[in-house]
Amino acid sequence: MRSQTDLERVLTARGVNLDTCSDRELMYALTAAVRQLQKPMDHARGQRKLYYFSAEFLVGRLLRANLINLGLLEEAERLLAAHGRSLAQVEDQEPEPSLGNGGLGRLAACFLDSIASLGLNGDGVGLNYHYGLFRQRLDTGRQTEEPDPWIGPESWLLDTGLSYQVDFGGFSLNARQYDLEIPGYENGVCNRLHLFDVERPAPPPAEGIRFDKTDIAGHLTAFLYPDDSDEAGRLLRVYQQYFMVSAGAQLLLRELEEAGHSLLELDRYAVVHINDTHPSMVIPELLRLLTSRGVELEQAMDLVERTCTYTNHTILSEALEKWPASYLEQVAPQLLPFIRALDQRARRRSDDPRTAIWDEHNVIHMAHMDIHSSAKVNGVAELHTEILKNTELHPFYVLYPEKFNNKTNGITFRRWLMSCNPALAGLITQAIGPEWQRDAGLLEKLLEHKEDTALLERLLAVKEENKGALARWLGSRGTEIDPHSVLDIQIKRLHQYKRQQMNALYAIWKYVQIKEGHTPPRPVTMVFGAKAAPAYTLAKDTIHLLLCLGKLIERDPQVSPWLKLVMVENYNVSAAERLVPACDISEQISLASKEASGTGNMKLMANGAVTLGTLDGANVEIARLVGEGNIYLFGRSADEVIALYRDNAYRSSDYWQKPELERLVDFILSPELLTIGDAGCLSRLYKDFIAKDYFMALLDLEDYIAVKERCLAEYEDRAAWSRKMLVNIARSGFFSSDRTIMEYNRDIWHLTPDGA
Ligand SMILES: *Cc1c(COP(=O)(O)O)cnc(C)c1O
Repeated sequence: MRSQTDLERVLTARGVNLDTCSDRELMYALTAAVRQLQKPMDHARGQRKLYYFSAEFLVGRLLRANLINLGLLEEAERLLAAHGRSLAQVEDQEPEPSLGNGGLGRLAACFLDSIASLGLNGDGVGLNYHYGLFRQRLDTGRQTEEPDPWIGPESWLLDTGLSYQVDFGGFSLNARQYDLEIPGYENGVCNRLHLFDVERPAPPPAEGIRFDKTDIAGHLTAFLYPDDSDEAGRLLRVYQQYFMVSAGAQLLLRELEEAGHSLLELDRYAVVHINDTHPSMVIPELLRLLTSRGVELEQAMDLVERTCTYTNHTILSEALEKWPASYLEQVAPQLLPFIRALDQRARRRSDDPRTAIWDEHNVIHMAHMDIHSSAKVNGVAELHTEILKNTELHPFYVLYPEKFNNKTNGITFRRWLMSCNPALAGLITQAIGPEWQRDAGLLEKLLEHKEDTALLERLLAVKEENKGALARWLGSRGTEIDPHSVLDIQIKRLHQYKRQQMNALYAIWKYVQIKEGHTPPRPVTMVFGAKAAPAYTLAKDTIHLLLCLGKLIERDPQVSPWLKLVMVENYNVSAAERLVPACDISEQISLASKEASGTGNMKLMANGAVTLGTLDGANVEIARLVGEGNIYLFGRSADEVIALYRDNAYRSSDYWQKPELERLVDFILSPELLTIGDAGCLSRLYKDFIAKDYFMALLDLEDYIAVKERCLAEYEDRAAWSRKMLVNIARSGFFSSDRTIMEYNRDIWHLTPDGA
């Protein structure tokens, strides 16, 4: 008789009947079984420990990812199949943790996976949001928001029973520590993500996502990035930040003391990574805790500067947080003397007022505090880091040239290829062996197969299969797409700098072309997935425009056989895992200089999509890796765009006045669209295009249309296209987050593995 496997044994012991239980029961049973198998695993060891502080960790569903890392995926699939069940169906029951919102949070999640997989001693520190950013609905022709609950009686969260008192101005709250386990890839290591929560979270709002923002005790961990268009919302964000870093700093010092280390050796035993500016208050909080335990202030400042490291994620000013000192006075008055001391120290180092922490308007600049008080500061792609050094953060670069360095972002190939695209992963393994699964750099071996027509044909066949699977999934949600059409995909947060509006104007152009009889060689499906921040009016108007265009095209019998525009509701990691493997054309069309890196571009490339984009963020590195013939580039360079801003030289009306562009922009207010859409929203968008267009959507539009048409034409040479796909996959290994984390460790964190 066949002996029972680990998984089977645990499930049997739990009394699960694999033949009769519901998919949901099976999902919970598998979750519990995986947790039980993770329990005896060891945390990575090492002298120095990393605490990765981040406001978001967009981890995605965990069942399949954890099974892969535990080496149990095949066993689980076999076991379920023997009982007529499938993991795909079971995992569909798993709620996706609402702990992040976009690229920054997804990066943090990939990093935790890589840290554990490389056996490095590091944990995440964040907040246990109950309702996420929001769940997006599009059924009314515009975006509406609802809470996105994910915590059930049997989620992946472990209640540690630990808590930390966090003192705010006038009251205190207990921060309860929950943990998510983060297993490494087949190495027996299991690290943690610590998530702090209030003791008595409030129930979800009765309607929408509006709630009492002054009820801190109940709502501190309700939503990620609560609406900050009023002061109560901004204060709530500061409460959240201080709650996270105070609890996290206390946890760190408790672990340091338990290990028997002196506070004076903080930097020897700990690294505090500040992921974007949200956790910046950890700096004064550590100073406060150290000095309250007897460390001299000057010495504490030296220690903290050697312990902290900071990643800058964006050059958009809205994300370089500044808080009025009065907010901190209200939320955490005990920090102000320490921030004052940091500011005075910064002023002793530089008399350039642009580098002040506490400015003359009584505003505190979080990024400035991070740079002065961190051992290292990094950007997230080569171009981004150069822009930081030469433009945005230049005065700091002059002061601390040795602190600045680049760490180009990455993705975990375990989730973004092995897990989401098993057919492609299998094909790659057949061609070059399995070693790439441990070292994505080895994907380069695929280049030896550039003339292997059998492999290239199977590459195309796998893409067709994945498109079919996407079509079935969308069909089950009420959206029909043609799996044999070209899939042109733009999935990312909705922001003007990402320029979804350009893609919308392309859809208008294509619609008009088809109306005029210029049909494309094969149907094109344009897919969008994007959430807009609830208070970001123009972003929501853009969603409205896209939905209207989708309807217009759908209703037009002359156009609909050739063009389709769909928006996938509630774009999140699970949706991305369906869309990425099926994509033909990866839209990466940000205004050059504005996208710090992007990681969606990397996921899509690794799955054999060809990029259509500007030379921005990591696209620059993608272009260099794949070479000219394997990417479609258009648009002005970052230098040109920076000069346009500097000289105030961009006038959108100059572009709108070109007849070809005017026609497209004016179509937004055409009778056809106005009968479908809301005149208020559409005219607001229209007016922005002609009067402002701050992110220059019209600047590159003609070039974009021309290059996109060339891309669609060249798609028809299927053999040549399959070679482009192969080169993209082969060169994507550089973007493994394992490579990124090895570089962080080599240049920034210096975590030594056990015993070294
Ligand atoms: C990867 C990812 C992102 C980031 O996409 P970009 O194109 O880099 O902005 C955002 N959201 C989700 C759900 C993702 O998986």
